[in-house]
Amino acid sequence: MSEPTKDPVEEITQKTEEVILDEEGKPLSKKALKKLQKEKEKAERKAATAAKLAEEKAARDAANVDFSQDRYGKLPMNQSQARTDTKYEDITHINGGRAGESVVIRARVHTSRATGNKMCFFVFRQGVSTIQGIITADEKTISKPMVKFCVGIPSESIVVVHATISKPVDEVKSCTISDAELAIDKIYVVSEVKERIVFSLEDASRPETDFEQEDSQFVRVNLDTRLNNRVLDLRTTTNNAIFRLQSAVCLLFREFLIEKKFTEIHTPKLIATASEGGSNVFRVSYFKQSAYLAQSPQLYKQMCIAADFGRVFEIAPVFRAEDSNTHRHMTEFVGLDMEMAFNEHYHEVVDVLDEMFVYIFTNLKKRYSVEIEAVKRQYPFEDFEFLPKTLRLKYSEGIQMLRDAGVELGDYDDLSTTNEKLLGKLVKEKYHTDFYILDKFPLAVRPFYTMPDAENPQYSNSYDFFMRGEEIMSGAQRIHDPDFLVERAKEHGVDISTIQPYIDAFKIGAPPHAGGGVGLERVVMLYLALGNIRRTSLFPRDPKRLEP
Ligand code: ATP
Repeated sequence: MSEPTKDPVEEITQKTEEVILDEEGKPLSKKALKKLQKEKEKAERKAATAAKLAEEKAARDAANVDFSQDRYGKLPMNQSQARTDTKYEDITHINGGRAGESVVIRARVHTSRATGNKMCFFVFRQGVSTIQGIITADEKTISKPMVKFCVGIPSESIVVVHATISKPVDEVKSCTISDAELAIDKIYVVSEVKERIVFSLEDASRPETDFEQEDSQFVRVNLDTRLNNRVLDLRTTTNNAIFRLQSAVCLLFREFLIEKKFTEIHTPKLIATASEGGSNVFRVSYFKQSAYLAQSPQLYKQMCIAADFGRVFEIAPVFRAEDSNTHRHMTEFVGLDMEMAFNEHYHEVVDVLDEMFVYIFTNLKKRYSVEIEAVKRQYPFEDFEFLPKTLRLKYSEGIQMLRDAGVELGDYDDLSTTNEKLLGKLVKEKYHTDFYILDKFPLAVRPFYTMPDAENPQYSNSYDFFMRGEEIMSGAQRIHDPDFLVERAKEHGVDISTIQPYIDAFKIGAPPHAGGGVGLERVVMLYLALGNIRRTSLFPRDPKRLEP
């Protein structure tokens, strides 16, 4: 058995009480004794320091156990693993009156801002609505690592937040929900942002007024950059609102016409021949031959009238191969078309169209004021003015108003864009409306199928509707007599063989009818005074843009 090891210091200590001898058996000198004593003290100090350090480490380890670890983190990729009965709140339903209630929301991180290492402010976004969220570190539930995690969540990430509704001390002016905020209890990242964001949504949403200040240092996100990164751009509350309004125009158009006993139809977009002359159609390969993309549903909607549908409408794409690089032309747009048989006079149809637009404008204002205000916050505009009884001017009266304003124009001249706009301005000054109808256009400036005026064949039974001085709809009474239709087509140099099925439709008898075609994106652009049609088209197509 080996001897238990002795502590040398203890040994020395014991020995100092006796006479301590050196190796040769002689008593140690005083100096040597002092040295030994010092060594002993040093060892004691070292042991005490080590014990203190160990104690501190144990305390630190205990503190580092993150008591919030189950309250935050990145969720595994959703593969529909589970379906719980969790109710996910729509933030528009959250208000100060619900203070104290617990809610779960799923939203995007619009912005976040840390204050020190104990607090982080969020703005959460759902569509056009935003709400403030706050997380504050405490001793028991929200740890500092949890706050640190929050600070690190990149903007635009999608998160699930469990929170308690509270009433803010001051109104939250920067959010659409201003009388309530969310005290965050738990936060999980559902979808991460993995790429550098080209522009911040804050910059993309900046009100135009921010740029008007002289010392403005804000960066304007230009339209091209927006369109190149359209998915990100479409996330702005303004864009969400614009496209909800676009959807609303379609809904109201459909709602009104269905109520008036119209049938919604779907006509082909791939056609064998150009419907209204050959110059502005896209040719596509179609097996061993060529086909064209429809530049309007015109001939087909009329054929449906000949088929006794009575009243039809369509919402569908329209293709125009025009190299027009303007603020209001695209190569593909959405056409809102209608056609209807009438009893005696094409004004029966103008009345329906007139009533339809008043219905659309009235209900946009009544049912979509939140969206209109959202657009206005970024792009301020004057409210769209319209009269309960729409102003109707004859083309000749319009020409006279322009002449009175100093424009030189012949009776049957077409209206240039500049003159259209000037006339809109004159109408607004005189009649206080942004919406009016111009009736009885010169026959020469309209398509071959337009019915001439019975009294003066230089004019026609055709009309355009204008919003803020720009055309949004063209329409007319169409020729329903096949012989006259052939005559007029020939005068326009149309090859009859290319439209034979159309002509034939009238040979078996068709009622008198009229209709019109509206450009959806133009209506939304002009209602909101957005100045460029690309802003009201999801993924615009123009001569220079085919992507994204
Ligand atoms: P514009 O004179 O403005 O070029 P248009 O007379 O060619 O228009 P129509 O063929 O009568 O127009 O089309 C009916 C409606 O369709 C127009 O009033 C407009 O609202 C819309 N529209 C026409 N062309 C375009 C286009 N290239 N891009 C977007 N919308 C268009």
